Amino acid sequence: MDGIDVVMDGQDFALPSAEAPPTEVPSTSNGFGESGASGTPKSESPGADDEGANDEEDFSAAGYPLALKRQGILPTGCCYDDRMKLHANADFGPSPHHPEDPARIEYIMRMLKRAGLVFSGSDADLIPILQKTPNKYMWRIPARRATREEITSVHHPHHFRWVEELSRKTTEELRILSKKLDQGRDSLYVGSLSYEAALISAGGAIETCKNVVSGRVKNAFAVIRPPGHHAEFDRAMGFCFFNNVPIAARVCQADYPDLCRKILILDWDVHHGNGIQNMFYDDPNVLYISIHVYEDGNFYPGKPENSMTPDGGMERCGSGKGLGRNVNIGWHSQGMGDGEYMAAFQKIVMPIAQEFSPDLVIISAGFDAAAGDSLGGCFVTPPCYAHMTHMLMSLAGGKVAVCLEGGYNLEAISKSALAVAQTLMGEPPPKMEIPPLSKEAARVLARAQSYQAPYWECMRPGVVDVLDMHAQKSKRLHDVVRESQRLVLSEKHGMIPIYVQRDGLFNSYENQVLVTRGIHKAKKLLLVIHDP
Ligand SMILES: [Zn+2]
Repeated sequence: MDGIDVVMDGQDFALPSAEAPPTEVPSTSNGFGESGASGTPKSESPGADDEGANDEEDFSAAGYPLALKRQGILPTGCCYDDRMKLHANADFGPSPHHPEDPARIEYIMRMLKRAGLVFSGSDADLIPILQKTPNKYMWRIPARRATREEITSVHHPHHFRWVEELSRKTTEELRILSKKLDQGRDSLYVGSLSYEAALISAGGAIETCKNVVSGRVKNAFAVIRPPGHHAEFDRAMGFCFFNNVPIAARVCQADYPDLCRKILILDWDVHHGNGIQNMFYDDPNVLYISIHVYEDGNFYPGKPENSMTPDGGMERCGSGKGLGRNVNIGWHSQGMGDGEYMAAFQKIVMPIAQEFSPDLVIISAGFDAAAGDSLGGCFVTPPCYAHMTHMLMSLAGGKVAVCLEGGYNLEAISKSALAVAQTLMGEPPPKMEIPPLSKEAARVLARAQSYQAPYWECMRPGVVDVLDMHAQKSKRLHDVVRESQRLVLSEKHGMIPIYVQRDGLFNSYENQVLVTRGIHKAKKLLLVIHDP
């Protein structure tokens, strides 16, 4: 199935057809219209959505994106689909609420509509408006189900099957499974429609990125859930089933090998995106940069069960050919705000990103570092999100695709998402007072910089490469001083160093324990301890 797939993937744009009657166009599309903000998922079956596909194909035939492409002015895209609200907690007990709630994407879309960014009439009415003023509204990008092949480009087939089988479980089985999984590192609830929602979420990310790469929109925002960045190649965890952003990245690389070779994934969700990191850990063409709370490895997702699996520590820089293509900026604690995030961007993210020079930027945009999110405990404001977006728009010829990840305070995520969307559409970021950077955070940034210095020219000035120093067999200053003291003592008083028997002590005490000759015959010993 997946009739929608053929609608917008735009491989075969035709010139505008005079016959395409605008009246055939449905007035709302996958929740973009007024009905989408009402809070009730569409009543028809998922398959029924696909019936509109032919009508929408006429849209492509009406030539809207092509016409604008010729003018060189493209709109911002927005991907949304009500079916992603179908993933809901299977526990129908007295307090079934979960922070990863269907209302998250509904609130964001409602905010975008209220602010006048999303047109609620028909596509037929939207086309002429956008042809005159491309920045007036966002262009709708229909979501679709991701295919098994797309998902298994980053996930193990067993994992795909595990998620698929959720749709065949009874409510009782799902309840038991949720109870088991909704704790610790797993942190997951499952429902009978989780599979359906997860397919649409991944498909939405794919379509969003493809529209940006192929130049049908200048940039785009995917308002999707369930999120993806914690999902590992072989397991679901942290509210995530399929890892949307890596799937989209792999599909774009495969479908547009010339246009999209190098991809930057910037993850500003307050949690480390372990899944994304590990999927690309040895890949030189995908640079993953994450800014997250690390708390010495204690903040979620914490330490992996397998100690060989890298975590969000700053020393984790990638492996093999991907060495230097993994950048972790892990805050020592919660409580970080605009000062810290702007400094991270100015000192590390942007210099490295510019040196990498990506063909596409994907933002794993969790809004749980936003002020007001109790899970994140940080204080990033909407203007700061706007500035970060604006900086990233200077890369890759402006090809930026934003994919929603976490973020649980409904008001905070809506306002933050609005700031990002307005920036994508061309509004200058608001003027902002940047608070001073905290001392401890400055130390974190300096450490991140020193870990990255071996791999990036821009991280080198003023940074001492300790590994390199060891390789050159250079000496510590106090070793040099002590060696010269030994020389004086041996020349003036004939003292000689004695061998320290313990291996561990030997390195640091070599040449430091000196005795006069003939000590083995002495009856009395005078011990002088000298501590310079
Ligand atoms: Zn998060």
